[in-house]
Amino acid sequence: MQGYKSKSQIAKVLTENWMASESYCPSCLKQLKHARPNAKVLDFTCYDCSYDFELKSKKGAFGKKINDGAYDSMLQRLASDNSPHFFFLNYSPEYKVQNLIAVPSYFIQSSAVEKRKQLSSLAKRAGWVGCNIITSEIAEAGKIKIIDNFSIVDREKVRRKWLQTKFLQNSESIESRSWAVDVLRCIELLKTTDFTLNQLYQFEHDLAKRHPRNNHIKDKIRQQLQFLRDKGIVEFLSPGFYRAIPTV
Ligand SMILES: [Zn+2]
Repeated sequence: MQGYKSKSQIAKVLTENWMASESYCPSCLKQLKHARPNAKVLDFTCYDCSYDFELKSKKGAFGKKINDGAYDSMLQRLASDNSPHFFFLNYSPEYKVQNLIAVPSYFIQSSAVEKRKQLSSLAKRAGWVGCNIITSEIAEAGKIKIIDNFSIVDREKVRRKWLQTKFLQNSESIESRSWAVDVLRCIELLKTTDFTLNQLYQFEHDLAKRHPRNNHIKDKIRQQLQFLRDKGIVEFLSPGFYRAIPTV
């Protein structure tokens, strides 16, 4: 590791090399290719799926927030159809990979992107505004574990979980995607497999805040339940009673 100045540089090289040899595309399971080393965001590419992945790695636990790049370009990026997906990786002090999670970009909503303070006028990049990704704002269905506390998750299981919600990629609009993801996240927050419509209506206020231009939140919840049923995520048991089909 001679020639590398800091521990963080060493870690970057180690994790990127590890990713290049050990990681794979969660959608098709083929090996990923290292993107151009100086490319702004793209760290890895699957040429079969035309997917790009950005790797965020950290020593120790991830915590509630993950530092990312410029705030404005992140929001622009999430609004585009082919924005890169994410790999979140954390490693032990011995540089052993502890957790590796793939997060499809369509699971990261603007509510999960927090604006950081502008850099002071004394900083090298004065005025620059970065962002954090708030992990609790990401639905569990969009956190696809590849390595779970040092143990390797079966590849087919990874793929099934990725494919289960891939329909979100082809949503009609960012707005309709965000409705589906929001209702999916509300169902998860109930922490129960069987639930009622009234239980979901408890999120009406929260959903109204996220979608201030919509005055028919309850109608929208019911519409999204039908949509999620058609996509095999929710089962209708009887009027007003539902069952979440577990993510694999
Ligand atoms: Zn692929």
